[in-house]
Amino acid sequence: MAPYACDPAFARGRRFFEPPAPTRTEFQRDRDRIVHSTAFRRLVYKTQVFLNHEGDLFRTRLTHSLEVAQLGRSIARSLRINEDLVEAISLAHDLGHTPFGHAGQDALHACMAEHGGFEHNLQSLRVVDMLEERYPQFDGLNLTFETREGVLKHCSRLHAQALEAQEPGGVGRRFLLREQPSLEAQLCNLADEIAYNAHDIDDGVRSGLITLAQLRDVPLFDRYRAATEAEYPELAGPASQRRLLYEAIRRMLSDQVYDVIDSTRAAIAECAPESVEAVRRRCPPMVKFSDGMRECSQVLKKFLFQNLYRHPKVMETTRHAQTIVRDLFAAYTESPQEMKAAFAEQALVGDGEARARAVADFIAGMTDRFAMREHERLTGRRLLD
Ligand code: MG
Repeated sequence: MAPYACDPAFARGRRFFEPPAPTRTEFQRDRDRIVHSTAFRRLVYKTQVFLNHEGDLFRTRLTHSLEVAQLGRSIARSLRINEDLVEAISLAHDLGHTPFGHAGQDALHACMAEHGGFEHNLQSLRVVDMLEERYPQFDGLNLTFETREGVLKHCSRLHAQALEAQEPGGVGRRFLLREQPSLEAQLCNLADEIAYNAHDIDDGVRSGLITLAQLRDVPLFDRYRAATEAEYPELAGPASQRRLLYEAIRRMLSDQVYDVIDSTRAAIAECAPESVEAVRRRCPPMVKFSDGMRECSQVLKKFLFQNLYRHPKVMETTRHAQTIVRDLFAAYTESPQEMKAAFAEQALVGDGEARARAVADFIAGMTDRFAMREHERLTGRRLLD
């Protein structure tokens, strides 16, 4: 491993001391804890873009997280940074997502407007720090600082100050000092973007909401479609459209991965960090696309936003999802005893603030279908079936 990689032997440690594991590094242990967590298993029933029951083959939060881990690991190996840490962060990065994807998150954020709002990155940290209940000695998974640093991808200043007050010098500080996280954490961020851009094209076409013809307007994708068709003219026919789509996406993914590796190597060479601390304190963000690829990726993102995430069909489910989250929030705030015992207890002993946070934690943890069932139980209305 390179000197600027996170070395598990020098990990900053866990909040509660635990003796080292005999056969695994600290980051492997973090990854294993994440894979065995309840929140991780819930990801399979949480929406990425399409609701879980809309089709069996669409990405869920779980398959998305696995794809991020795969891309992250292969880039990490080329950059000689820590693969296990990248895997741990990737698998945990979406643990705090609400049911129903961004629709659920926006609705919950609005419900929490007077109580500090709801941020899914911060929620992922709450899951691994507090909400998982598996160990007799502590709440949460007691992960290393390095994994937690990566999980907290973004954070508002207000929340960073609160984190800093609870844990001086901890994971909130870099947002106050405007410092960078480790290269492993930076990489997970970009691998996330590469993964969803690619799989949302695939899922978008599969759903019929976007077409290969429309994608001609996206230069990044169209370049690989055209190259594939030139090399394999037999794929132009309607029966081969899926194969053409997969091959174009595969080429796009490979090119983006190589682009990140080259651009990041150049940035590392320029800044020459001698340690992880230098990466954090002294260097600009170094895991990045080339300028050309960044622009292309932005155009693709914009296309997906306009044509897929804001598609009338998606917006219709979005409205129902927001209604479900709002109704659940109101119902549990009114009657906390309707929640699972641990959350009800938190809500009933605390003030208004604590009650709202307990309700948000309970709702955020739900799978799509559990949220739909709870909504029907509490309101008698069946939405999104
Ligand atoms: Mg993600």
